[in-house]
Amino acid sequence: MPSSEDDASRVAWSGDEGENDVVQRHLQKAQQAKDKAAVKATAKPSTKRKPGEPTKAKHAKKSTTGVGKVAMRPKKSATLRKESTYGDNSSDDDEDALDDSLPDYLKARKRHRDTEQAMLDNRGLKLPPSYDNVDFSDDERLADLSERPNFTQIEPCAPYEDIKMERSLGVIPAPIAQWLREYQVHGAAFMHEHIVYQKGGLLGDDMGLGKTIQVISALTAAFSKTGDERDAKRMRKMRKHPDKPWYPVVLIICPGSLMSNWHSELKRWGWWQVQFYHGSSADKEAALRAALSGRVEIVITTYTTYLNNKSELNLVNWDIVIADECHLIKNRKAEITKAMDELNSLCRIGLTGTAIQNKYDELWTILNWTNPGQFGTLSAWKAHISKPLKTGQSHEATVPQLRLARITAKKLVSNLLPPFVLRRMKSLIAHQLPKKSDRVVFCPLTSDQQEAYASFLGAEVVDSIQRAGDPCDCGRNTKRGWCCYKRISNGDKWQMHVFPAMMTLQKLSNHLALLIPRSEDSPDQQQKDLEKLEMATPDLWRDLYNTRDNIVHYANVNFCGKWKILRKLLDFWHKSKYIPFYSS
Ligand SMILES: [Zn+2]
Repeated sequence: MPSSEDDASRVAWSGDEGENDVVQRHLQKAQQAKDKAAVKATAKPSTKRKPGEPTKAKHAKKSTTGVGKVAMRPKKSATLRKESTYGDNSSDDDEDALDDSLPDYLKARKRHRDTEQAMLDNRGLKLPPSYDNVDFSDDERLADLSERPNFTQIEPCAPYEDIKMERSLGVIPAPIAQWLREYQVHGAAFMHEHIVYQKGGLLGDDMGLGKTIQVISALTAAFSKTGDERDAKRMRKMRKHPDKPWYPVVLIICPGSLMSNWHSELKRWGWWQVQFYHGSSADKEAALRAALSGRVEIVITTYTTYLNNKSELNLVNWDIVIADECHLIKNRKAEITKAMDELNSLCRIGLTGTAIQNKYDELWTILNWTNPGQFGTLSAWKAHISKPLKTGQSHEATVPQLRLARITAKKLVSNLLPPFVLRRMKSLIAHQLPKKSDRVVFCPLTSDQQEAYASFLGAEVVDSIQRAGDPCDCGRNTKRGWCCYKRISNGDKWQMHVFPAMMTLQKLSNHLALLIPRSEDSPDQQQKDLEKLEMATPDLWRDLYNTRDNIVHYANVNFCGKWKILRKLLDFWHKSKYIPFYSS
């Protein structure tokens, strides 16, 4: 597909008239592509180039300006081929084959980007759209516009000021900027730069550092949104604009369990036109048509849905693709990884909170998705990165091997990765995180617990302990426990039972089910536990003991006052987005 056609159809799509025809045409194309793929699967791969289509190398080499410069994939050489035989013997031919992994439409877009950026300099970049000539009726009442996010229970951590990102000319508007920590601004700027230059990147921050809000901040800048209710109208305004300016369309791919989270976070942090590409085929087609015709800003789908519908989804020239939990595509041979490699987007941003430092080949697979071809072939990566690092970690490593490993690690971390990977660890920003605050919450015992507590206190052994300090009834003016009541009825000294009794009280105050003997304990232990259970629950112990392995006892809210309180706290925390940590 020649790139000029991309542009022609893109302009055509943005009008309402004839929109259905265009979409229809694209849907037909998808079917043809599917048919073609089916044929291809049975035939030998063809290397035939369409007449008039320029070779990739010729054009890519021309992009020699600093702007949007793309590092060239290392040439296949005799040495690399040789080295590819190292290691785990999995160096099949496809480790060297990168050209074929890129679909034609992406090669065309890449060529187009490179030539455009080379020819037009900064004008070829995907800079945020400008609304200078767009009238918003709300502009008259700016002070009254509502803003998002709208948090009422927490204090902003930064001044209410727009943040201008120097390297990408994007702006994080004040309503959002006031809630971002410095590292989050840095992360948003990192991603926005990749969006503007249409490159791929990986945000590998630890869990809990707010990757989602960093993405939303970057997207807000990419769409030139201002964090107020005008943002709801931007897409429509731009569609009506006579110049048909560029307006981004975004695809978010995530595990199914995170779809609604993305949706609600987008809503919390702004006004977005979002559609799910998911569910019934009618729903999917509606989302696809919207994306093809510029009637949606963000489409959310899952990895599985993408895998099953990739030829349709790749009809859209996505400006930005976000792959959440992208470690799901770390396995080079998995179907989903191969499908993701076909994604029709030059700006692919991966998010992962899972450490990938020590699995270098997996890192290659993810980076080869974010930036196809940029990291060379897997065999070259293995030879130059994985092998020296792995060898250096071995116990038998020689001094030169250790040295090579150190140099390789340093080059990787300080030279090769930084333009593509941003990873911050929780520990590094511990001082920036909210201080841990302890709040004591009193949790009354449930009536079942109160009854058990009273019964246990009334048991003979506990009674003996409690009254040990009373004057003895023999009249010798001595304390009972050291006179006629040194032993309880079973012959034990009462002192032996002080600590166990305290433990029992503590257990039943935490959760009544903790008193139930556990069948994995020794028979001896079980016997002792059973005695205490009997003292605490004279009416219930038989039932409890007979069903002692049933999880239901632990789920019984009447056995645990803390649970009742915790439930309320969780509801509260869920609404206010605090995360509770709790220990007994
Ligand atoms: Zn006595």
